[in-house]
Amino acid sequence: MKVDSTRRPGLRRRPPSPAWLGARAVLGLAAVLAAGAVAAGSRDPFAAARERMVRETIEARGIRDPRVLRAMRAVPRHLFVPPGHRDRAYADSPVPIGEGQTVSQPYIVALMTELAEVEPGEKVLEVGTGSGYQAAVLAEMGVRVYTIEIVEPLALRARETLRRLGYDTVRVRVGDGYRGWPAEAPFDAVLVTAAAPRIPEPLLEQLAPGGRLVAPVGAADGQQLVVVTRTPSGSERRTVIPVRFVPMTGEIRGATGSGVASGLPGEGPGERPLGEGSAGGSGQGETGAEAGSSGRGSREQRPEVR
Ligand code: SAM
Repeated sequence: MKVDSTRRPGLRRRPPSPAWLGARAVLGLAAVLAAGAVAAGSRDPFAAARERMVRETIEARGIRDPRVLRAMRAVPRHLFVPPGHRDRAYADSPVPIGEGQTVSQPYIVALMTELAEVEPGEKVLEVGTGSGYQAAVLAEMGVRVYTIEIVEPLALRARETLRRLGYDTVRVRVGDGYRGWPAEAPFDAVLVTAAAPRIPEPLLEQLAPGGRLVAPVGAADGQQLVVVTRTPSGSERRTVIPVRFVPMTGEIRGATGSGVASGLPGEGPGERPLGEGSAGGSGQGETGAEAGSSGRGSREQRPEVR
């Protein structure tokens, strides 16, 4: 017969009390959650920065659509900027992406997405792919995205980034977005992420009934973010906030033909018409898009760049 040497005769273990069991379950759960947080943190070292970005620079300025907030929380913005700028990826400013261009300030991406009022399954056209970040945010909203970028190296890089991250509902095309994407029209929403003196007529024509077009319209040194809604009788137009985007190049500036993908003389993608620093310069004042001085619900009354 085996003797249990750990048990003294006559001593019987008391069954654990319900209170003790409860406390142990809570402690266990806390340990699991803590481990999960550490694991998640180690998987994505930018998770905390992204959460702060959403709370402090997007929600705090009045973006309310939970689907937009969820999408902004989901897309790893740092993977859309060059490695040298990743530490600034979640800052409240545009970030250089090369070729003299920038990915827009997070708030502007969220605002344009909210204004587009997209529903899952809809088709959306974006003019100005840049890094592909805005397209990814739209894809997270469950829409099919058709995006056009005039600077070929950017378009190719964005396509590769989107593919690698699994955004299969995004199609990227190299070219001038002035004429839209007629073969895929009509679109339920059109987002233009480069500034033009007027809205290109072909983009308005490619809006589906009830469709929304969101675009920065105005001069190179400042524009209004405009929303045009296609109605049964024509269209309704409203302005939202002053903004400052990089200029749209190509046909809108009087160029014709399809060879504009490589840029126009004196107006090429490397030019910084807003007089800001180089692509590697500081966040503020770079070319790109940002909220103007009276941002909707803005915590800060300062211009930003996208
Ligand atoms: N949406 C982008 C993102 O998420 O990274 C940022 C867009 S950036 C502010 C503007 C982009 O518009 C630039 O990449 C620029 O090359 C592009 N662009 C300018 N004119 C264009 C045109 N006519 N057609 C297509 N893209 C154009």
